[in-house]
Amino acid sequence: MSGPVCNAREEAVDATDDPEECRLEVTEGHAAQVGAMGVNRLVPRRARRTVGAWCFVDHMGPAPVTETVGLDVGPHPHIGLQTVTWLFEGSVVHRDSMGFEQLIRPGQLNLMTAGHGVSHSEETRGIYAGDLHGIQFWVAQPDSTRNGEPAFEHHSDLPQLDLANGTATVIIGSVGDVSSPARRDTDHSGAELDLRPGESVVPLRADYEYAVALADGAVTIDGTTLTPGKLGYLGIGRDEFALTATEATRMMLFGGVPLEDELIMWWNYVARTRDEITDAHNSWTNDDGRFGKVASPLDRVDVDPPLWAR
Ligand code: MN
Repeated sequence: MSGPVCNAREEAVDATDDPEECRLEVTEGHAAQVGAMGVNRLVPRRARRTVGAWCFVDHMGPAPVTETVGLDVGPHPHIGLQTVTWLFEGSVVHRDSMGFEQLIRPGQLNLMTAGHGVSHSEETRGIYAGDLHGIQFWVAQPDSTRNGEPAFEHHSDLPQLDLANGTATVIIGSVGDVSSPARRDTDHSGAELDLRPGESVVPLRADYEYAVALADGAVTIDGTTLTPGKLGYLGIGRDEFALTATEATRMMLFGGVPLEDELIMWWNYVARTRDEITDAHNSWTNDDGRFGKVASPLDRVDVDPPLWAR
């Protein structure tokens, strides 16, 4: 058994057996806009740039969408990342430049790999009316695949692990000995925890750093109560973690081997240099074919070039 270590950037010297010495690190999200929807951006924050290769976490809703007002993010480009879209409520249509059109529902995974370049839209207008609630994550791709071909996967049947007071649905990677079939280019994992009131213990990997984000409900971890809207960072070095739901709770657990690479993120691009981003954005603005075409009724999205390229 190893004890929890709060700070992933510190060496794990001695395992502590004093739980008071190691507390959950809680950071606030901040408001951002995606399409017509307000979102709460949990990662990146100044204090927490990445969790494993997870480099972006947007919690959207719950908020009503109608026949005329929805998520409705028109075609836009990505490089160097995987989008992991996960819904708690509602449905969204994904359309991309590879020709995939996929309705996503709660409990299903949409996983798009951008590689050298892909574009997609995320639409609700005319498709769904009601409350929309979900999370979109980005996972930074490693050098081995980030300049490669784009790809798309949809998984409607994901494996589950029974917990003392709930279940874990494994979206990517493994929790304990339960593994998702989804593609994975780095050593990371993600799961939805669906909890009844009471304590549960979730197996972790000691070489991963982890964080949690709640969709609804409330949990106590290391003596700290966590509610929706905040990121709870668990650190590295735990081989399990205990949490107590004080009401019915749905939450995401995600983690991975801490990222060594220095990422540069601008708009919808994840890269290692500014030149890579400038090149990608020129391609998008000039519509030179790198990002293909999306068969979407929505207008393509464009923004001014980055400051360094003006
Ligand atoms: Mn996108």
